[in-house]
Amino acid sequence: MTGGAGIHRQPGDGWLECTCGTRHWGLHGAAGLLLTRTVRTGDTDDEPEVVLQHRAEWSDHGGTWGIPGGALAPGESAVDGALREAAEEAGIDPEALEVRSTHVLDHGPWSYTTVVAHATGPQHPRPTDPESLEIAWVAASRVPGLPLLPAFAAAWPTLRARLPG
Ligand SMILES: [Zn+2]
Repeated sequence: MTGGAGIHRQPGDGWLECTCGTRHWGLHGAAGLLLTRTVRTGDTDDEPEVVLQHRAEWSDHGGTWGIPGGALAPGESAVDGALREAAEEAGIDPEALEVRSTHVLDHGPWSYTTVVAHATGPQHPRPTDPESLEIAWVAASRVPGLPLLPAFAAAWPTLRARLPG
């Protein structure tokens, strides 16, 4: 989810004036990837981790943490868009994950789809464009303590309930 200065421009990039009274990024909606993995912690409970993006200061809500994602291209599915953005921004390998569910925030003229996926092979998330200060695996229990992108903060309780562990 960029502020428009991203290096991977496509025709869906742009601000949409929404009926909710604010503007959102993505002329055809937007999508993001919540990639999870379960870390074995021995005989205690296994805790899931998620890949979060620490957003560049110049971006919309700069300095907060969210998930890799961005505007959908015309005719692009939310899953395809989320995987494309996650590969561009965070080096996430779409061949080494399995999509488990989608969570849609629907505003009518605009929507944001969170695609929840589980890593099935090696993933080495890292900043692969200038939109991120940091890309990191974060334990689910630590997520609420971070300064989160407001929309992600609002969605987190619902998303957390869908993760294993
Ligand atoms: Zn809206």
